[in-house]
Amino acid sequence: AYLDRVAEVDGQVNAFLHVDRDTALAQARAVDARLAAGEDPGPLAGVPVAHKDVFTTADMPTTAASRILEGWRPPYDATVTARLRQAGMVVLGKTNMDEFAMGSSTENSAYGVTRNPWDLDRIPGGSSGGSSAAVAAFEAPLATGTDTGGSIRQPAAVCGLVGAKPTYGGSSRYGLIAFASSLDTPGPLARNVLDAALLHEAFSGHDPRDSTSVDAPVPPVVEAARRADVEGLRVGVVKELGGEGYQPGVLRRFTEAVELLESLGAKVVEVSCPSFDAALAAYYLIAPSECSSNLARFDAMRYGLRVGDDGTRSAEEVMSLTRAEGFGPEVKRRIILGTYALSSGYYDAYYGSAQQVRTLIKRDFDAAFENVDVLVSPTTPTTAFPLGERTGDPMAMYLADLCTIPANLAGNAALSVPCGLADEDNLPVGLQIMAPALADDRTYRVAAAVE
Ligand code: GLN
Repeated sequence: AYLDRVAEVDGQVNAFLHVDRDTALAQARAVDARLAAGEDPGPLAGVPVAHKDVFTTADMPTTAASRILEGWRPPYDATVTARLRQAGMVVLGKTNMDEFAMGSSTENSAYGVTRNPWDLDRIPGGSSGGSSAAVAAFEAPLATGTDTGGSIRQPAAVCGLVGAKPTYGGSSRYGLIAFASSLDTPGPLARNVLDAALLHEAFSGHDPRDSTSVDAPVPPVVEAARRADVEGLRVGVVKELGGEGYQPGVLRRFTEAVELLESLGAKVVEVSCPSFDAALAAYYLIAPSECSSNLARFDAMRYGLRVGDDGTRSAEEVMSLTRAEGFGPEVKRRIILGTYALSSGYYDAYYGSAQQVRTLIKRDFDAAFENVDVLVSPTTPTTAFPLGERTGDPMAMYLADLCTIPANLAGNAALSVPCGLADEDNLPVGLQIMAPALADDRTYRVAAAVE
């Protein structure tokens, strides 16, 4: 049924970069056979999933929506992909995204834009916009995404979905094409809180193949999603995230969600996190710095595209021709920014101070969590904006992640849950819930109460 739905609507939505009907049906039959043979087919047996095209898949291409990876076939599965296969899931295909996960609208894909199923002239969020659009358009019940600065929570918010950024290190980066390694976090997108929790639990847990993987039990997110009670829970409203510059309809739904939590027995207080004001600036030094280092591996020798290799050119010339053609404008902008920030003489002023801001943000979280169990804010300042509106203005595009970036810099757990439609445009609004590292279950508990 999901494959039929993809065939029916994806011409308009463009959520998928690759769909493999035969492989998906073969996987579904294999699950049937395991069931018939009396074997355990796994906790999510037969449930379809769509993977963001940034996770390697041994049986499908993986491009990160970049021309530079055109034609590359990964020789192995990412841990997230492999664990979900083991859980019995059926892979429908790979979803569109901003190239190398850099963006907030999926307009930076080398393979065309993805449209928001709520309004086809608007963005589905990004960078996991193919995944959010696929789930919102009922082309998949569940999808994977990655969140470096908000790329799961923001697309979830603008498509009316649940999206979680697990604690950093709680989900494995092995086989995830790297953008900013100290921030990249795989996570789930789903239409309700329990579905998100089931997917979250299925791919999480320690992975010896990721050196930053946390060796701790998986937080009990499924149990928390079922529990759904906030009686006595202390909820902090972040003073710095809201107010001027935010769409009035977003703020109205946010305020109502907070009132709902209070009526359900939560204790609501206002909390100040003064360093959050510097989070965006610090992120746009740290993330490009890490990306300039990570993307150096695309050297025209090892993966995908190779331009001008006709026997007359040096390796350096082939490399520069390939990169000129293979990387899109936003990726080039980030590499240049990052290389500059890391260069000798500037390192302390830019990268060094950004890292200090990162520490201050972490301290703001630590201080807040001494007095409250979770922090809340709107997920994004506005609802889904029209396609093309911000493509000429990188700063306006970057502002879409104003509320989500602090949790990435500190590495703690965060989630976005729908909290109604904005009055101005009848488009979905997201409530962001943030919890300390490894307390992901609290975000699910609160989200399930709001849902
Ligand atoms: N929009 C942010 C950026 O462009 C975050 C992206 C992400 O989380 N992958 O960097």
